[in-house]
Amino acid sequence: MNIDDVLAEFGLDATRMQNGSLSVRSPIDGTQVARLAEHSTADAHLAIDAAHTAFMAWRMVPAPRRGELVRLLGDELRAHKQGLGRLVSIEAGKILAEGAGEVQEMIDICDFAVGLSRQLHGLTIASERPGHRMMETWHPLGVVGVISAFNFPVAVWSWNAALALICGDAVVWKPSEKTPLTALACQVLFNRAMEKFGDAPANLSQVLIGGREIGQALAAHYRVALVSATGSTRMGRELSPIVAARFGRCLLELGGNNAIIVGPTADLDMALRGILFGAVGTAGQRCTTTRRLIVHESVADELLGRLKRAYSSARIGSPLEPGTLVGPLIDRAAYDGMQAALESARQQGGKVVGGERRLADQYPQAWYVSPALVEMPGQTKVVLQETFAPILYVMRYTTFDEAVEMQNGVPQGLSSAVFTNDLREAEWFMSAAGSDCGIANVNIGTSGAEIGGAFGGEKETGGGRESGSDAWKAYMRRATNTVNFSRELPLAQGIKFGS
Ligand code: NAD
Repeated sequence: MNIDDVLAEFGLDATRMQNGSLSVRSPIDGTQVARLAEHSTADAHLAIDAAHTAFMAWRMVPAPRRGELVRLLGDELRAHKQGLGRLVSIEAGKILAEGAGEVQEMIDICDFAVGLSRQLHGLTIASERPGHRMMETWHPLGVVGVISAFNFPVAVWSWNAALALICGDAVVWKPSEKTPLTALACQVLFNRAMEKFGDAPANLSQVLIGGREIGQALAAHYRVALVSATGSTRMGRELSPIVAARFGRCLLELGGNNAIIVGPTADLDMALRGILFGAVGTAGQRCTTTRRLIVHESVADELLGRLKRAYSSARIGSPLEPGTLVGPLIDRAAYDGMQAALESARQQGGKVVGGERRLADQYPQAWYVSPALVEMPGQTKVVLQETFAPILYVMRYTTFDEAVEMQNGVPQGLSSAVFTNDLREAEWFMSAAGSDCGIANVNIGTSGAEIGGAFGGEKETGGGRESGSDAWKAYMRRATNTVNFSRELPLAQGIKFGS
């Protein structure tokens, strides 16, 4: 595995990271790879104050010049794509292709943000008053607190940081306590970009190492204008009232329970590949993982037969070995959660294939599983919850209405897809009466979004949007300006006030 060499690429000395209170383990074999010192709440407050000072200067730097810093960050990421991707694999357990793919996503958002730095457009609005002009201006917002989950340990920071930085904000990042090393590596790359940039204010982007107390410190601090938090719905429920109590802004990217509908006209070869990548990729630990398959009764037997064969040949093993498709679960708690969900599914009438622990002899401290396919009689209680593991619940349907109702019949609303060659089904699925999710795809699976679109979901997924489209507006504040260039002072709505 040789983590020392990987860390050395980022100037991080593994031998100096062995005395802190935070134990960092690789899910590949369960070994401890570092013990990091943790920040306190007082440290968090100092970091936020420093970020605020940086913001006060950065907001006056022209946006295209701010874009230059993000361009330099993108260059660093390009140069270290393989190394950072490998560190993601070691710390989060993703296969190498997915680790590098995550870094590619960071590069893509940097490119997107650089272009955007010249396009932070407002509007000109027709005024009802003669000799008046109305417009809308977008201004930098302040300090942005980023809280991220273990399963996208680096990309989530970049989705937020690249946009926040070009928008004129400063960033304080609290990564998952399960993946702090990748965060430290990103900070090194950011610092190198800062050096090349030259005159950016210090502390524009900082990392705080620690658990949920640090997340709560960000949520509670009046100077954190936006808290962008990615993680479980439980976390969002605990965090958002703290931010709301001080009227701060929250951008929430929480749990998903994503479904693929396969219609009677679907191209089953394509559907099979989409389902396999969505359900088994990242060992079922993506927010957009396919967790439910809603399949038309006329194609269900054939599709299930093919899926079972594909499942049994998906190679499970170390994510660092070429050919592996399914790496480990992040930790024992994830394994226990998966087993508990499978037991509930059995009790609720499910037929379970797979789900057993694997490679225990080779990796007694790690948690590998065979992905599980579970035929369910309907959407019982266990199907309604997100279990962060490779479990695919399969339900059959007769009419398309029924399928859409099932797709929408869960508390979460992140990603959804239909495989069909029937134009009416495809359009219905994307219409106002179709999928209620933030992402609704046709003939593409639920996972693997591109950065050009806005990313996020409805209901218990939290409602936030990150990444492309106009997601940048969350990182700025809007001012409406009305200018009177006449010699009169007409009041709006034609009001006469006094003589
Ligand atoms: P988690 O909720 O356990 O932790 C996420 C982050 O929140 C961590 O940094 C953690 O320290 C922090 N945190 C936890 N409780 C907190 C609290 N009460 N106050 C402040 N901070 C707190 O999630 P996880 O296990 O790391 O990640 C898996 C979850 O994240 C899944 O539910 C997955 O769907 C979700 N996720 C969502 C998206 C998305 O874009 N919608 C992306 C990735 C992951």
